[in-house]
Amino acid sequence: MARYRIKFNKKVCIGSGACASVCPENWELVETPDGLKAKPRKTEISEDEYDSNSQAADICPVEAIKIEKISSRKVHGVEEEEEEDYGEEY
Ligand code: SF4
Repeated sequence: MARYRIKFNKKVCIGSGACASVCPENWELVETPDGLKAKPRKTEISEDEYDSNSQAADICPVEAIKIEKISSRKVHGVEEEEEEDYGEEY
């Protein structure tokens, strides 16, 4: 089953709360020295959790949330994680 990694750019988050409204199971707002910021409970999610987190990424007005697929393959019997190229450093 596919797994996904959430990359969250806290610096650009403006604390709108949109992510938490569409995906409350993984996103919450927390008070920080820089004001309200979103916080993901998990940064590695399963396929079942992908849709709602993807909605959170889509709705974010500053594109602070990216989700990338983690693909794993077995090399000499050892499972290795391989990240697909996301195209940009985040
Ligand atoms: S939707 Fe984006 S800007 Fe708004 S709280 Fe979530 S991560 Fe921050």
